[in-house]
Parts: sequence; C-alpha cells; structure tokens
Amino acid sequence: MERYLTQLLADLRAITRERQNRCGTTTDHYSLNEAGRPIKDFATYQAELHQFFYGEGEGSMYREIGLLPEAFPPAPRLTDAQLRALVSQILDVWTAYRIIPTVPAGISPRRLYPELLRIMHEPFQDPGEDGWIQQEFCHFLPEECPWDPEFCSCCWTDGEAE
Ligand SMILES: [Zn+2]
Repeated sequence: MERYLTQLLADLRAITRERQNRCGTTTDHYSLNEAGRPIKDFATYQAELHQFFYGEGEGSMYREIGLLPEAFPPAPRLTDAQLRALVSQILDVWTAYRIIPTVPAGISPRRLYPELLRIMHEPFQDPGEDGWIQQEFCHFLPEECPWDPEFCSCCWTDGEAE
C-alpha cells in the first residue's frame, strides 16, 4: 500500500502543479472576440463547449483530473498517517482547481476522506481564473448531515447553544 500511495500522492501533486501553471483555461481564450469582449456569457459558453466535447452535461472532478474513483483506496485500508497525507494532497488539488471546502473545525481525515471522494462524483465545472467554488457538504438538514453532531452547527438546537 505504501508504494501505491507514494505514486498516487505524486500523481496528485503533478495534477495540482499542472492546474496551477495553466494560465487561464484554453476555453477562456476562445470565449472572447478580438476586442477581448465575451462572445456570450461565460457560463453559457462553457456549457455549450462541454456539450460539444462530452455529449451531455458536465463531467465530474474525477474526469477533470483524469483519475478513476477506484484509484483512491478505501479509508479502512489506510493508516491515519496515510489518510492525513492523502487528504492533504487532495485538498491541494481542490485549491488548485479553486474549490474552497466548507468543513467544520476538528473533522478527522478519516471522516473527511470519504466525503471528498463522494463530492468528486458530482458535476464539476472548472471556474477558470474567474472565481472560486464554495463547496458545501452540509445543507443544514441534520438528518442528511455527513458530520458527527458535535462538529456541525446544523445539529445544534437553540437550547444547546445557550
Ligand atoms: Zn451539518
């Protein structure tokens, strides 16, 4: 596992670097006319481009970074130290792709890891250099909250807050 993980971490670092070094996405260049003005609004342009390349809708984060979900070992097979390294590297990839995760303080890598992998299945659209994506995990429905009750404010009742 250790050798496999070393390779995976190196690949994730390369993905992070590649995204950091990309000066705007290629689509940014072609969405402007010669005067540098947007041909149409950027979201519409990106949606049409994705439609053209992929036939339907948006891709997932996995497709974006070119790794299959199976590349990520299940949490029970990893030690705490391995999980910490892997979660840290995945978050570096997210930062390079301009995704800011909203995670309560104190969440362990073992709890966070499967949630990161789950979110990466969802439709993802690279914001280019234009903005950031705020990634929520909890939608303030305690029954669907992925975190333990003591960590997430959605589970705190008014009574307990006093
Ligand atoms: Zn919550």
